[in-house]
Amino acid sequence: MILFSLRCSRGHQFEAWFRDGDGFEAQQKSGKISCPECGETNVEKAVMAPRLGKSHRRIAVGLGVTDDPGGED
Ligand SMILES: [Zn+2]
Repeated sequence: MILFSLRCSRGHQFEAWFRDGDGFEAQQKSGKISCPECGETNVEKAVMAPRLGKSHRRIAVGLGVTDDPGGED
C-alpha cells in the first residue's frame, strides 16, 4: 500500500491509500478518486510533504472514498 498526497482541482489537499502507483493511475483515469472535501474527481498527485503537526486530516482510502457527498457547500 502506498499513501499518496493528492489535490483536487479546487485546491483541496488530501491523502489516499493505493495498492501501488498503477492503482492510483487507473482509479484517477476512471474517476474513482474523489476529493473528501468537495467530491471533485479531477485530482492529481500533490507534492509529497512531510507530515506537519496539523490537526487530523480526513483520509480517503483507495476505492472506498466513503465520505458523505452531501455536506455543506
Ligand atoms: Zn476538493
